[in-house]
Amino acid sequence: MIRMKNVVKNYSKGVKALRGINLTIEDGEFVYLVGASGSGKSTLAKLLYREEKATKGQIEVCGHLISKMKERDIPKLRRQIGIVFQDFKLLMDRTVYENIAYALEVIGTEPEEIEPLVMQALRYVELESKANDKPTDLSGGEQQRVSIARAIVNSPKLIIADEPTGNLDPQTALEIMRLFYRINQKGTTILMVTHNRGIVDKIRNRVVEIEQGKVVWDENKDENVIQYDVSLGEYVAV
Ligand code: ADP
Ligand code: MG
Repeated sequence: MIRMKNVVKNYSKGVKALRGINLTIEDGEFVYLVGASGSGKSTLAKLLYREEKATKGQIEVCGHLISKMKERDIPKLRRQIGIVFQDFKLLMDRTVYENIAYALEVIGTEPEEIEPLVMQALRYVELESKANDKPTDLSGGEQQRVSIARAIVNSPKLIIADEPTGNLDPQTALEIMRLFYRINQKGTTILMVTHNRGIVDKIRNRVVEIEQGKVVWDENKDENVIQYDVSLGEYVAV
């Protein structure tokens, strides 16, 4: 599903956000990506849906070699990925229904297919009764459920969620996590950036940790593990 080989990402002004990431995620996995603020988690996520382009290295997502992908092929990639953000990124002047329908319109879904798909996604997150409300009338947890409905409406193979519970209270965060868990149980691969230790401990999944742009811990893949060698003063493969 995801294969990253020696991926480097430098931003302007000499910011080295990723310094050689090696990461493989198989179909159907649920992986937490953890690490301190500024360690490169969001950058890694953005590379996968081509919001940012890698400086070096190879990235394969859903069978696309995206490090070489042309701009005009990016929509093809995005169609296979659902994205969920910490701040929901909903269109506040549109209804819940319209927010989800919009995700289908932009990828050219036939008009007659849109309504049944939107209603099915809303049923999945148990928000059919809010279809005609504006996001501003909803709680934070409900808004996140709308954004999850928007992410799954096109039945993507992969969901990338960047701190999806970051703005929610612990109880609501747990409800949102259960929703992701159910989505994963249906076979959708999930990569979730999270700060929430409590959640990582409650719902066990593979954990990948990055530090200063490198993988320093990967529960599944021993060959990827890199540790800080005090005597050398740098990270080395172990
Ligand atoms: P995280 O999500 O783990 O907090 P980020 O991937 O957002 O980390 O950031 C990694 C590093 O890259 C940080 O030093 C951050 O300041 C820097 N960075 C992120 N985005 C940009 C950008 N668009 N331009 C320049 N530097 C950036
Ligand atoms: Mg981030």
